[in-house]
Amino acid sequence: MTTARETAAQGTRDLKALAEQAGRDLEDASALEILTWAAETFGKKFAVTSSMEDAVVAHLASRAFPGVDVVFLDTGYHFEETIGTRDAVQAVMDVNVITLTPRQSVAEQDARYGPKLHDRDPDLCCALRKVKPLEEGLTAYEAWATGLRRDESPTRANTPVVGWDEKRQKVKVSPIARWTQDDVDAYVAEHGVLTNPLLMDGYASVGCAPCTRRVAEGEDARAGRWAGRAKTECGLHG
Ligand code: SF4
Repeated sequence: MTTARETAAQGTRDLKALAEQAGRDLEDASALEILTWAAETFGKKFAVTSSMEDAVVAHLASRAFPGVDVVFLDTGYHFEETIGTRDAVQAVMDVNVITLTPRQSVAEQDARYGPKLHDRDPDLCCALRKVKPLEEGLTAYEAWATGLRRDESPTRANTPVVGWDEKRQKVKVSPIARWTQDDVDAYVAEHGVLTNPLLMDGYASVGCAPCTRRVAEGEDARAGRWAGRAKTECGLHG
């Protein structure tokens, strides 16, 4: 007789194989085709995550799957413009925005670890305020989509359009992995997609306020994140 654990392990193996096959099959597909595949394959067990830097993937996903869940991590350290972008996305797009928050408020974290943990131990701060809440928030889903692009940084250069998220044991969909910044700009212009106002103010990548700065001409888009530190990723995509 097959145990529940064996059935779950088989399910995980099946999902992983499905993801790897889809990654090969959909490598040349359009972003909309990739998201349509995800919507048809996973239905309500599929969600899009958005940092609210722009709403491009959320917009694409709403075309493939009206009413799709769009998961936003509110770390407590966001710029007002980012929260405003989230509210505008919920108001004007056919999506269901779900806001995840860390277990501790910033004040509670300060009391436990001391103030400005982001300056002293950003890996721990990201683990508490991003990685853990996302892990918990995604438990209801089998697949999630991100806005990762291969041209953003060397660490993202091999991002598959569909792959296996080993850490969370889920299918990870990156429908605009092959896009360039010009492709994003063209999509935004063509569809009038909401973007974070900070992108018009010298920021090329928008994260938490204490860990984000404007970038200079010629710097790569993520150079303004954790500037001056070896850290380049928050751990959500590792
Ligand atoms: Fe903390 Fe900075 Fe990570 Fe935000 S980006 S969770 S403020 S370390």
